[in-house]
Amino acid sequence: MTALTRKQIIAWLNACAEAYTAQRQELTDLDMAIGDGDHGINMARGFAKVAEKLAASADQGIGTLLKSVGMTLLSSVGGASGPLYGTFFLKAAQAVGDKSTLTLTDLAAFVEAGTQGVIDRGHARQGDKTMCDVWLPVSASLAAAIEAREMPARALKAAAVRAAEAAEATVPMQARKGRASYLNERSIGHKDPGAASSALMVQALAAVVGEG
Ligand code: ADP
Ligand code: MG
Repeated sequence: MTALTRKQIIAWLNACAEAYTAQRQELTDLDMAIGDGDHGINMARGFAKVAEKLAASADQGIGTLLKSVGMTLLSSVGGASGPLYGTFFLKAAQAVGDKSTLTLTDLAAFVEAGTQGVIDRGHARQGDKTMCDVWLPVSASLAAAIEAREMPARALKAAAVRAAEAAEATVPMQARKGRASYLNERSIGHKDPGAASSALMVQALAAVVGEG
């Protein structure tokens, strides 16, 4: 059963661009507390570029489209998150190949490969207070939904709830990777900006799939 069409993937990426523009200040404030205050700017700029390229792109397969998203993020987003989100999309693209629709199983493979790409590149483990603290539970949530034979919209909704909880759960963690790790214990008590932006990405996906 199809979980996501090419058109929905485009709608999702455009929804991410809108969400990052709307939440730019919020993400920047989070990064101001434990980083350098550029995360909202990075994400809004990167996804604005993604949206711009999508508008100009012809009828590419999903793999080609996602690869182009990864390349755009790599080249237009600065900081740690650009290469990490870029890698996420490049690895996800490789995992799904050039299909024209994705099943829930394809989508789970997409998230798993993207997450593994981020881990291979950034070497974060669960609990290090990074975006991986959202992607790992989201990946597990999708795997559990497939096991339980859930419908895509329901599976994505559960994954979005899990993502929001997981982002919130980074608050008491001490950062062990990235710029926030320089603060040692002072990084405790703040939500990780990359975890927050990752949760927004999953929420945008759930909204698109839920609309059917
Ligand atoms: P920078 O820290 O270079 O200013 P951003 O502010 O755009 O870059 O992104 C910061 C986010 O990147 C963090 O909140 C964290 O989620 C994520 N991050 C940083 N380092 C790593 C890493 N090694 N692995 C996974 N995620 C990381
Ligand atoms: Mg930053």
